[in-house]
Amino acid sequence: MKTNWDLTVFYKDYDDPQYAADMKALPEQVKALAALIDQPDEDAAHKVRAIVDAMEALSNLSERVSLMNMLTISVDADHPQANAAQTPMNRVFMAYAQCESSFSRYLASLDNLDEIIAGDEELAKRGFVLREYAENARHQIDEKLEGPVLKMQLSGGKALSQLRGKLEATLTANFRGEEIPLSAVRGKAYDPDPKVRKDAYEAEIDCYKKIEIPMAVCLNSIKAEGETIAELRGYDGILDMTLADSRLSAKTLEAMWTAIREALPELREYFKAKGRLLGHKNGLPFYDLFAPIGESTTTYTIEQARALLLEVFEKFTPEMSGMMATAFDEGWIDVFPKKGKRGGAFCAGCYSQNISRVMTNFSGSLSDVSTLAHELGHAFNNKMLSRVPLLMTDTPMPLAETASTFNETVLAAELMKKADAAEELMLLDASLTENTQVMVDIYSRFLFEQKVVAAQADHALSVQELKDAMLWAQDQSYGDGLDPDVRHPYMWACKSHYYSTGRHFYNFPYAFGGLFGRGLYARYQAEGQAFVPVYCDLLSRFGSDTIENVTASVGIDVTTPAFWREAVGTVVEEAKRFAQLAQEEMK
Ligand SMILES: [Zn+2]
Repeated sequence: MKTNWDLTVFYKDYDDPQYAADMKALPEQVKALAALIDQPDEDAAHKVRAIVDAMEALSNLSERVSLMNMLTISVDADHPQANAAQTPMNRVFMAYAQCESSFSRYLASLDNLDEIIAGDEELAKRGFVLREYAENARHQIDEKLEGPVLKMQLSGGKALSQLRGKLEATLTANFRGEEIPLSAVRGKAYDPDPKVRKDAYEAEIDCYKKIEIPMAVCLNSIKAEGETIAELRGYDGILDMTLADSRLSAKTLEAMWTAIREALPELREYFKAKGRLLGHKNGLPFYDLFAPIGESTTTYTIEQARALLLEVFEKFTPEMSGMMATAFDEGWIDVFPKKGKRGGAFCAGCYSQNISRVMTNFSGSLSDVSTLAHELGHAFNNKMLSRVPLLMTDTPMPLAETASTFNETVLAAELMKKADAAEELMLLDASLTENTQVMVDIYSRFLFEQKVVAAQADHALSVQELKDAMLWAQDQSYGDGLDPDVRHPYMWACKSHYYSTGRHFYNFPYAFGGLFGRGLYARYQAEGQAFVPVYCDLLSRFGSDTIENVTASVGIDVTTPAFWREAVGTVVEEAKRFAQLAQEEMK
């Protein structure tokens, strides 16, 4: 087994002459692509094919270079060459985005596009994306305005987004007389000591007062700018634009919310039961949402984690466990924390070599094993996507967390089977903490963002109005599950997602992906092994059509609440079981 990932599959090292050659070739190839798109067209079919080939070749090249740089920086933040490559790479990405815009306009100008696509086997395999490019031309900012608008965004919304990041990064909270970073005080929400959690919560709420005014300006302005951009792109507001970018219909989104709303009363019973278990009478106080229940005494070495994952996923399909064995043995994973390495975990796919790279900060807890299952789920999704052409691999945000959630669910179900009552309560709580975030908390964030966006037509919301809107949204979703006196009026300042200029409503994709993954798991339970090839096929098509069509192709209708009710129902079952075990525990 290897516990450091192997980047020599990209380049021997930074002195590899191929690296310098590729860094030099990248901007040249983008330039050549731009010229190709601008060329007067004699034979449109021939030209479209040449552009597609050039785009895919260029993507393969830039993937290799950017993975080398991105992966190196993520485990060695100050790496000089990898850092030096950032600016030239950003320039390449920007120039490439401009090529995509002009390709869109070119395709939209062809009145026989369907014929051209049908007449070439390779183009036909990429038909959806080519038609989407043409369709997107209708939703581009006017060619004359595009440059100036994007430039003004750099000093507008994007600058405010950066300001928000700086405000957060430099904010400290006074925890028991000591100034500590915001991230540290928030981390104490998981502390086993209830007094630590409560004091940390109070310190956190208190510290937002120092930045509430600039935060409110950032939030209002970013949403107001978003509305302007949506208008310039010919959309009926931010949500309409986001749904189009997500290849998702409003009807499907509403079907999902319907199922979640119906289940809220039953999900609130989980918060109440957890509250009672922790000695609260009036619902769960916000600061105990993440309180650990029970103690997980089991720890895992990385070898044990490998063995457990292989054993569990072998039963699903040997293709998954085989890939996992390869990942552990051939240096796909950078396992342990080290100096200069960033926190958290992620997975990055390398399409041209049909491999992935996974970063984790493994310290041996059960949740670390679950993280490995999650990230290797992404890796499996990447593997399935390699069955289709590169242009068809672009997965919309709402589907991006499907395979990862699916894997987490498979692992949790296996562990639950072997657990005694105390372990079961702990496992259920871990699952419910996460799943209620994905459903209940995300629903409150969606409601809040809708309110803030709608207000912009009239006025920018004051700090007090933002706090009131947040408490209202939490009331709508958590209801009596949360103690009404101990909520979180500053969640809008806490979550960076509200401040992304490129991704508005960056909340519902979490609910969608999480529930979709669970819904698929419910199907697997019902259908057994027959479901495995269906699942693999589905993953391979994530970038090949609208979400409704992708799912319909395997017989799943996401446009009505039925599928979502099934998925939500699996969480409701866990909530009921938790309440029952908690009751027994308190006897
Ligand atoms: Zn993920």
